[in-house]
Amino acid sequence: MPGEPAGSARAWLAELAWLPGRGVSRDVLIEAAGDRFTRVTSGASPDLVAAGVLRLPGLTLPGLANAHSHAFHRALRGITQAGRGTFWTWRQRMYEVAAALDPDSYLALATAVYAEMALAGITCVGEFHYLHHGPGGAPYADPNEMGRALIEAARRAGLRITMLDTCYLSGGLSAGGEPLPLDGPQLRFGDGDARGWAARADALGADARGMLGPAARAGAAIHSVRAVPPDQMHPVIAWTHQTGAPLHAHLSEQQAENEACVAAYRRTPAEVLFDAGALGPRSTMVHATHLTGADVRLLGESGCYACFCPTTEADLADGIGPAAALVSAGCPLTLGSDSHAVIDLLEEARRVELGERLATRERGNFTAAALAAAATADGHASLGWPDAGEIIPGALADLVTVALDTPRTAGTQDQTALESVIFAATAADVRYVAVGGQDVVAGGRHLLVPDVPSALSAAIRAVRPAA
Ligand SMILES: [Zn+2]
Repeated sequence: MPGEPAGSARAWLAELAWLPGRGVSRDVLIEAAGDRFTRVTSGASPDLVAAGVLRLPGLTLPGLANAHSHAFHRALRGITQAGRGTFWTWRQRMYEVAAALDPDSYLALATAVYAEMALAGITCVGEFHYLHHGPGGAPYADPNEMGRALIEAARRAGLRITMLDTCYLSGGLSAGGEPLPLDGPQLRFGDGDARGWAARADALGADARGMLGPAARAGAAIHSVRAVPPDQMHPVIAWTHQTGAPLHAHLSEQQAENEACVAAYRRTPAEVLFDAGALGPRSTMVHATHLTGADVRLLGESGCYACFCPTTEADLADGIGPAAALVSAGCPLTLGSDSHAVIDLLEEARRVELGERLATRERGNFTAAALAAAATADGHASLGWPDAGEIIPGALADLVTVALDTPRTAGTQDQTALESVIFAATAADVRYVAVGGQDVVAGGRHLLVPDVPSALSAAIRAVRPAA
């Protein structure tokens, strides 16, 4: 498991590995002690490598970071594709699942979903968690019981987790611009006010470095300008400054959100978050789909991350955000599977470039290396793990190996192996995953959750509404 004490040494020999500054290298000997890499040597002679070194045929990457997840949305896969509907009718189905969850069913569902993520090469998840309380909003005996279920789920599935504990106080904005009270299933999301949120987030018990366990880190989220009035944002932001925790927020996913925000506050959502002090280099704006030119400059100058979730944004008919403009302005790009319409970071990565091509009718906006950086180093940094996501000495020993002998990847050449993987491979081509130097997936099978499809099936059946 991640977080093992230093000392136990092991090594891998990667047929090909993507290394920072060196690109794709052949015959890479990767050594680790405990949960960190100690040495990386390319051009190792396979014949001279000692027995006991695990050979990794294919292309080995650093572990992938899923920077935006709502684990329970996985139960909606498929059923929300029947008929037409909108973002808002989709949200109604999502609320039905939220209403059905309790700590036990949440633990079972999230364990299975995180195991699916591990099979897809994801070694770290940012869980944007807002389903805090029991039915009607009554706190559980431990008011963080639901959050602890998610942390335990990540541990069981072998992933790192950043618990993005989400402040969610209002149920939208009225036509007159007033925050609406929470209603129905939303009552489970609320903590009364931001100080109530901070007291509960404190009780989760992070240490001085913001750690909740060996492989769990505390973070915070402002759900959106719809759910947190501007005068309630400060306590959340102040809370993140205590430990340098990451701060995430949904931003301008739908035009209706922008229109309601401008009507209420005479400012765009990006301007409201900037004025509240929520934009900075530890911040991540999720979606960032409908932005003005001024919004793009504000986000870029703040140095915040822009987290794109292209499969969800396509699924919910959100639109195509200005990824290239945001990166040019200064925002590092990260990726998330968000609603888990599919769980495949490779698909999220290529869809950023493909969406940009469709929107601009120009190719070559993002290189495969830039997209891989979004899926690895930048994603990890946005979740508070700047020491993960690169295969270099000292970094956390997280690896994912993609097979190059599958129907999708056969015929790959060394020089363009990263391009083949980013633009054509899928989660089904992931063969091996290590987290903190420990095997989590081998031969395409999860070693900690033995039957992931059965676990998903049982957990979803327990909470899913009828189609
Ligand atoms: Zn989301």
